Amino acid sequence: PATLVDVVRERALSAPKDEAVVELGGRRLTYAQLWDEACRVAGGLREQGVTKGDRVALRYAAGVDWVLAFWGTVLAGGVVVAVNTRMADAEVQFVLDDAAVRVDLTPDTPLPIGEPYVADDLTARDVAAFFYTSGTTGRPKGVPTTHEAFITNAENMIRCSGISRDLGSDYRTLVSVPLFHVTGCNSQLLVAAYVGGTSVIMPQLDVATMADVVVVERIGYLITVPAVYALLLRHPAFAGADVSGVRVVGYGGAPIAPTLVQQLQAAFPRATVMNGYGMTESASLITVLPDADAVAHADSVGYAVPSVDIGIVPIGDDRSVGELVVRGANVTGGYWQRPDADADTIIGGWLHTGDVVRVDDAGRVHIVDRIKDIINRGGENVSSIEVEAVLLSAPGVLDAAVLPVPDDVMGEKVGAVLVSESGELDLDAVLDHCRRSLADFKVPQFAAVSGEALPRNAGGKLLKRRIRDEVRWGNP
Ligand code: ATP
Ligand code: MG
Repeated sequence: PATLVDVVRERALSAPKDEAVVELGGRRLTYAQLWDEACRVAGGLREQGVTKGDRVALRYAAGVDWVLAFWGTVLAGGVVVAVNTRMADAEVQFVLDDAAVRVDLTPDTPLPIGEPYVADDLTARDVAAFFYTSGTTGRPKGVPTTHEAFITNAENMIRCSGISRDLGSDYRTLVSVPLFHVTGCNSQLLVAAYVGGTSVIMPQLDVATMADVVVVERIGYLITVPAVYALLLRHPAFAGADVSGVRVVGYGGAPIAPTLVQQLQAAFPRATVMNGYGMTESASLITVLPDADAVAHADSVGYAVPSVDIGIVPIGDDRSVGELVVRGANVTGGYWQRPDADADTIIGGWLHTGDVVRVDDAGRVHIVDRIKDIINRGGENVSSIEVEAVLLSAPGVLDAAVLPVPDDVMGEKVGAVLVSESGELDLDAVLDHCRRSLADFKVPQFAAVSGEALPRNAGGKLLKRRIRDEVRWGNP
């Protein structure tokens, strides 16, 4: 298939009765129904003036309407603007204005229905959707994503999970992450369509019912962020559930604690566990850590996926450490109307990820930190991610965020925001634990302990800028 239109049309013709989409507590659609209804939505959008390249904002909750609006927009030749429905009104307005949308599908807008329509002038290079970056390091940026990028990512996904293009209805994936980010949309919904399988969509993340859904809906492919797996494994409802049908347990989006990887392997003994690293700009995957390495190299994100070339721009004398740069058919050619960001990010055809990595002798990539989160303590670089990983295995620590604390002499010092069940911790024991695993300049000098969860976005990422604004440091 060259375009997403080919992908879904092919399935509607070859396996019309197979289940395409399930909304938990809502409707279920076969491929024939999906095609039929999506063509009508495409017609409805054309009636509302959508022509090739026009943007359509999707603000529905995750579910069948979202999926029909997605396919309807694509079949109309339009461009899906995947709006993060968790954003505040002003942030949503920024995205709507930035993308200059022609049609805005809000939760109050019924799906437009018209005479069936299918665009016949689309090519692989046409843009199918805009996803906005998470805005972790600044204002979110629109990332035009082509049909080719979607299909290349789907191909990478199936090759890395060892499944065939014709897996069909044996592929059942639980979509519990948002559809407005690339993991849910590109690496789950689109992969299911690509192999003719089923996307089972949770409109609202609900850890309490997840184990039950896995059993009842015969889920074989699970992907979510580390924070959700941590909650799931701790939940009483998970204990008795028979999850032996799960074949792939995928995670990514944020660093995972090595102890959690071990717990996942124990909890899903029949499954392959897979760490996937990627970004909005790469239509999802850049690297994948194969199961064989999952425990021994849990701190790694693995190897480049088939379509991607990777390189390192050294930031010091050690040439194996530096900023990861990537290029490939799934990597965007530039941001939407952000020449400033393009100039900073896409240099000589290579996209600069903003992530500092180390590549080991076997070629495995290890994320050291985001460039902007590295702490410079009197000239020594401290990786916040490395310190967080150590803190997560300290006694009583449930979650941790490591941040710079401004200092007149050292420039920056290392601060740790820690979460425990009770909101209290034996900090001496935590620091002793750190001293055993970390050089002394990396050991936190400031700490704040709380009983409340750290703020994370829907992609499971720590909102460090918010934590930084709110924290009140104590001196351990
Ligand atoms: P913005 O670019 O707007 O600041 P963002 O980079 O958080 O936001 P995304 O594109 O959603 O937006 O996230 C990509 C980033 O997520 C990567 O650059 C990396 O820092 C992090 N990441 C993704 N997968 C992993 C993983 N498996 N392990 C560690 N970090 C990951
Ligand atoms: Mg980014």
